[in-house]
Amino acid sequence: MIPRIRIAHLPTPIEPLPRLSTILGGPRLWVKRDDQTGLALGGNKTRKLEFVVAEAQAHGAQTLVTVGAVQSNHCRQTAALAARLGLGCALVLFGESPKNPSGNYLLDLLFGAEVTWATRETYEAVLQETFEKAWVEGRRPYLIPLGASTPLGAIAYAYAFKEYMEQGGEADWIVLASSSAGTQAGLVLGARLSGWRGRILGISVDHPAGWVKERVAELASQAADRLGEAVRITPHEVEVNDSYIGAGYGVMGHREIEAIQLFARHEGLLLDPVYTGRAAAGMIDLIRSGFFKPGERVLFWHTGGIPALFADRYAPNLL
Ligand SMILES: *Cc1c(COP(=O)(O)O)cnc(C)c1O
Repeated sequence: MIPRIRIAHLPTPIEPLPRLSTILGGPRLWVKRDDQTGLALGGNKTRKLEFVVAEAQAHGAQTLVTVGAVQSNHCRQTAALAARLGLGCALVLFGESPKNPSGNYLLDLLFGAEVTWATRETYEAVLQETFEKAWVEGRRPYLIPLGASTPLGAIAYAYAFKEYMEQGGEADWIVLASSSAGTQAGLVLGARLSGWRGRILGISVDHPAGWVKERVAELASQAADRLGEAVRITPHEVEVNDSYIGAGYGVMGHREIEAIQLFARHEGLLLDPVYTGRAAAGMIDLIRSGFFKPGERVLFWHTGGIPALFADRYAPNLL
């Protein structure tokens, strides 16, 4: 048995997107609502943290230490879970302290996280220092890597795939946002273990497809090991599209804005500017270019991220 904290609201629902399907004139669309996992406005990190933080607690951790962008959903959910479990939380964020906290960063502070600032280039050293400082102070830190994309984080999504199979597993395609690759790794492993016949397409949010494929394969294989399954995933069986990275991580462009508007106006559904907006924009472009066959069923796996909609950086540009 792999230790797990039960905190997510599961199973997350699957809902049809009939109006969006009609307007796009393509395949039939559904959404898997992992934006509704229940912890502090939800998202995919809730599932990962159920396993990662259970291990932290098994090690006697008293402080969760992790890292991410200013608008990191992973940091916000880690801070919330730490608060809920009575643990400390130390975050290393990329960038500079914003004048007015908003979006996820506002919530980090509300959950009582301590924040140290770093750059993407130098964060490893800052993270190390933050960890050591907490250690010396006797606060028993536990380091959660970027995005909680560890073999345990991937295992969480192998279980999520099992949940999806129990809901029917009927799609021909699953489309999702992929970044640190743990989510896709878990889904790919779960699909393999259950003999599912559909295809899983990761829309890369920031990294070249080759990097994401390698990372998915590595994490999925390590997760399989940990589960005691004799399964290896190779990069060439992983599908990733990196055509929608635009101006880079966290830079919302016209494609993301259009996707957010389409989902909002036709389905009353919210996407986020960094991950799901980008993945949905990719999916919409692929529908328009005839990538999916008309009779196919496509499931958009919503990974959350909603609080970033209200960040000062994005909100004024959404309309
Ligand atoms: C972290 C995150 C992702 C990416 O998941 P990975 O496992 O890092 O690939 C996608 N969507 C949202 C909203 C996220 O916060």
